[in-house]
Amino acid sequence: AVKETGKADFRFYEEGMLEQARERLALTVELREALQQGLLDVEYQPKRNLRDGTLAGVEALARWHHPTRGDVPPSIFVAIAERSGLIHALGEYVLRCVLNQMNAWDEAGQCIDYVAINLSMHELSRPAFVDTLHRVVRSYGVAPTRIRFELTESTAMREPGETLRQLVKLRSHGFDLLIDDFGAGYWNLGHLRELPVGTIKIDQSFVRGSQSNLADREITEAIVGLAKKLNMRTIAEGVETEAQADWLRELGCDVGQGYFFARPMTAAAFSRYLDPTVAYAG
Ligand code: C2E
Ligand code: MG
Ligand code: MG
Ligand code: MG
Repeated sequence: AVKETGKADFRFYEEGMLEQARERLALTVELREALQQGLLDVEYQPKRNLRDGTLAGVEALARWHHPTRGDVPPSIFVAIAERSGLIHALGEYVLRCVLNQMNAWDEAGQCIDYVAINLSMHELSRPAFVDTLHRVVRSYGVAPTRIRFELTESTAMREPGETLRQLVKLRSHGFDLLIDDFGAGYWNLGHLRELPVGTIKIDQSFVRGSQSNLADREITEAIVGLAKKLNMRTIAEGVETEAQADWLRELGCDVGQGYFFARPMTAAAFSRYLDPTVAYAG
């Protein structure tokens, strides 16, 4: 069974395979309905240029406030979407939310350079993916250069050649790509050479340990150094303290993101965050 804890977060009970399979099926059905009914939300978290503190852009993060289960975290429902094929619908849903929001911000005169959207590598398994995406983005009148994709690798790439072809095509339309959670999961150094990617996002586990653990510190330094040699930019995620932000700036890391700057927030809250004097009507 699934239980809501006091903090309304969400856990699987270890109750055996059958029970887990049943839960997964129930969640899959509910996720499909939620997508059809427009019940998922998107929150936005700022990315700050470490050198001068200006807003670099924002990351869009999907949210599912489930009516009875409480908040289902993306780590759960993205995995369920990947397994069930709903990842395509989820991806398009988030994309449309973001495009709507970008137009609303533009109309309100609130300048956001770019929005970064998480892209599951599973989404590339559809041959028409890039063309569909490009068509959707154009239909909202948003320039592809204002959309960046954070590539997340939850399993080893199934068809590296085909994936690479899709990413090159995506890039050729003007979409920027970056490697998310670098140093964790399945990303490896060869990907830096092969993928048409200009930015590396350092996994938050290294940032978290950087002030207390020598290995995390050295690894973070090595990633920033490597990125410089490859003419790539770096983003640090999970920046929670001023000490981390200061240290990353001195290291030459370009952009910081994390609770130290701001938590992910609703679109309305983000508008107030950008300009507390403007009443937000969107
Ligand atoms: P991610 O893309 O690496 O996003 C960073 C995660 O760290 C987010 O968790 C964010 O809320 C959290 N975070 C940000 N700053 C801090 C900090 O200072 N400290 C800590 N402890 N955490 C911080 P979230 O929102 O739960 O998302 C988890 C993952 O789910 C994301 O990791 C991303 O891989 C995936 N995800 C979220 N939204 C989407 C989506 O729309 N599509 C896809 N395909 N994946 C998504
Ligand atoms: Mg991300
Ligand atoms: Mg990340
Ligand atoms: Mg992550």
